[in-house]
Amino acid sequence: MTVHGIPPEILNALEGTVGKSGVAADAAGMAKYLLDWSGDHRGGALAVLKPASVSEVQAVVRLCGTLGLGIIPLGGNTGLVAGAIDIDSRSAVVVSLERLNGIRLVDADNFILQADAGCILQHIKDAAEAQDCLFPLALGAQGSCQIGGNAASNAGGTNVLRYGMARDLILGLEVVLPDGELWSGFSGLRKDNRGYDLKQLFIGSEGTLGIITGVELKLFPKPTRVETAYLGLASFEAAITLFRQARRASSDLISAFEIIGSECIDLARLIDAD
Ligand SMILES: Cc1cc2nc3c(=O)[nH]c(=O)nc-3n(C[C@H](O)[C@H](O)[C@H](O)COP(=O)(O)OP(=O)(O)OC[C@H]3O[C@@H](n4cnc5c(N)ncnc54)[C@H](O)[C@@H]3O)c2cc1C
Repeated sequence: MTVHGIPPEILNALEGTVGKSGVAADAAGMAKYLLDWSGDHRGGALAVLKPASVSEVQAVVRLCGTLGLGIIPLGGNTGLVAGAIDIDSRSAVVVSLERLNGIRLVDADNFILQADAGCILQHIKDAAEAQDCLFPLALGAQGSCQIGGNAASNAGGTNVLRYGMARDLILGLEVVLPDGELWSGFSGLRKDNRGYDLKQLFIGSEGTLGIITGVELKLFPKPTRVETAYLGLASFEAAITLFRQARRASSDLISAFEIIGSECIDLARLIDAD
């Protein structure tokens, strides 16, 4: 692992923004933040910072600008493509959003939820469900990934067919810009034809344009019934035909449609046999 000593005056300055408990600068404290989920990529950083409020994120960004330090935003670290890993960083800090993790608002009348960027996706889904609503973004990492990371990577998941990608599910973003200014794009409006849609620049930008600190999400009525079918088909063409017919017959209510090739089923049988 690449860990470089951090000059005491820089450590003091960083601690001044997020407090001593919000900084990890030793190898053991930083280890889990520098290792990609796959275990294939390990990065380096001067320190890992864990701001607990939007104003602390702003203070971190301003200080890093003054000190000339790079910033790597980190969500749940489930991205699988090493987007939050700096292979040999001598002059960057990782900014983990894990302590900025609250639900700010659930408005079941307007089907809107606002949350801090570090909120775990599953917690958002649970908060929506508690109000008889659905937040449909669903992926294998939902118990660990953060909604800010979902926005930054424009996550897809299993329900894209019906509900779209993260890009389609986000009504507004709040972002700390590279100069430390806060840009807030929460409007609560579904019908909004004012000017440029700036949030779309940040969605999918993988932390290159700013640190997302808050999200405003679209909720949906929770389906009253869900049916799942597992069908054996002879060909890929037959699957396409089935998909087309199922979309028409259900008035486009199919939320997920996945194909498992026979090779995968054979592999699964092998694992099962062990
Ligand atoms: C088992 C498993 C299943 C998965 N299934 C899917 C799937 O079906 N569909 C899919 O799209 N992905 C899937 N993924 C990939 C991953 O879960 C998603 O990309 C997820 O959106 C990443 O969120 P994260 O919080 O872990 O982000 P991280 O991995 O921490 O970061 C991802 C990128 O976003 C940036 N970033 C993170 N937080 C912020 C922030 N607050 N502000 C600015 N930039 C930020 C980081 O710098 C990095 O570039 C899966 C991963 C696993 C492990």
